[in-house]
Amino acid sequence: MISFNNTEVAFRSKSKLQLRKAYYLFKLMGNPLLSTIGGNLAKVAIKMHLPVKGLIKRTIFQLFCGGESMEKCIPRIDELAKHNIKTILDYSVEGKASEKDFNRTMKQILASINFANKNKNIPFAVFKVTGIARIGLLEKVNDEKALNEEEQKEYDRVVHRINKICKKAHQHAIPIMIDAEESWIQNTIDSIIENMMRTYNKERAIVYNTLQMYRHDRLDYLKKMHKDSQINGYFLGFKFVRGAYMEKENARAQKMGYATPIQPNKEASDKDYDLAMEYACENIHGISICAGTHNEESLEYLVKLMKSYKIEKNNTKVYFAQLLGMSDHISYNLANDGYNTVKYVPYGPIKDVLPYLIRRAEENTSIAGQTGRELNLIIQEIKRRKH
Ligand SMILES: Cc1cc2nc3c(=O)[nH]c(=O)nc-3n(C[C@H](O)[C@H](O)[C@H](O)COP(=O)(O)OP(=O)(O)OC[C@H]3O[C@@H](n4cnc5c(N)ncnc54)[C@H](O)[C@@H]3O)c2cc1C
Repeated sequence: MISFNNTEVAFRSKSKLQLRKAYYLFKLMGNPLLSTIGGNLAKVAIKMHLPVKGLIKRTIFQLFCGGESMEKCIPRIDELAKHNIKTILDYSVEGKASEKDFNRTMKQILASINFANKNKNIPFAVFKVTGIARIGLLEKVNDEKALNEEEQKEYDRVVHRINKICKKAHQHAIPIMIDAEESWIQNTIDSIIENMMRTYNKERAIVYNTLQMYRHDRLDYLKKMHKDSQINGYFLGFKFVRGAYMEKENARAQKMGYATPIQPNKEASDKDYDLAMEYACENIHGISICAGTHNEESLEYLVKLMKSYKIEKNNTKVYFAQLLGMSDHISYNLANDGYNTVKYVPYGPIKDVLPYLIRRAEENTSIAGQTGRELNLIIQEIKRRKH
């Protein structure tokens, strides 16, 4: 049975000073008021070109990001690798909307595949479709509305970019994960990825889609895709997550008067998460998975499933993934036990990854004054080192 309680293993790569720094940062983030004010101040300060980048870089950026470029992430990649943890470099630049930006991001993703090809500690590449496509366009296609000539050309360029990325991933045998986003653009994303899977997953899973199990229709989708892959002769790759846009999804459904795609409660999301993992383990021949979660029960369950379906710990069809700076107690203990473990390592210029950093800070804000999970573990380890 795997245990995530060993804080000595969890924080073995952190010096005393680094541990103290993490303690103060999580403590700061735990205060909802400070967290909100801090996030807003940072946005304004960067817009006004005030000299705050250094401060952000030494604090929250250092905690949650690998560096401002792929090369600058190398020390972080090496450090994780020392502890048997691999890296997925995630170009976390958000809020870009021009064709020029989309092409620039595509080039960055292609470069990340080349980079992964040369570094044995990077088993996957990753991208978000909204990094290379306009949301309004994806939504129009999702709604099955007719596109005018210009829009059709724009859409063709989106598919072309995605194809270029998947083709390169296939060429270098670097599996590529595509993040899941809001439900009102996800059908468009799914249908493009389905075509990519049919093209590039003939020998093994190269293109991975992401399933958000907080959606009540995703388990059926997994089974439908499994049938399709059997009929058409290709392999499936899926990252399983619970989903990051619950409030937004529910608010939009309510405002626009349609039934929410979100599960009725957390237990239902948890249940479908488990069932999806079980379905994949049962059909491991055709389905490769990556469990993208910080939920200990889910990960313990996957460990149990692997045992009962006789899937070796180092079978590359099963990966465990967490975000850099979060849930080290899970990643380090899994890796220490020999499971394929990866960290999503975000990178990019500080001003562009700020929205990502603010989201992480908000996620670590404490509920009703409780000490956050991360902070509790850090305190536990500081105490342990004193004895
Ligand atoms: C490596 C990695 C990759 C990720 N990639 C993506 C991605 O591509 N797309 C994406 O959307 N997210 C992604 N996420 C974020 C993920 O979806 C979750 O938001 C986050 O990981 C928290 O869920 P959990 O399973 O870790 O933990 P938990 O704390 O167990 O679960 C929290 C989650 O449960 C669900 N939930 C909470 N309350 C309810 C409720 N009342 N009813 C129904 N469901 C509820 C929500 O999804 C919430 O985020 C990723 C996370 C990781 C670690």
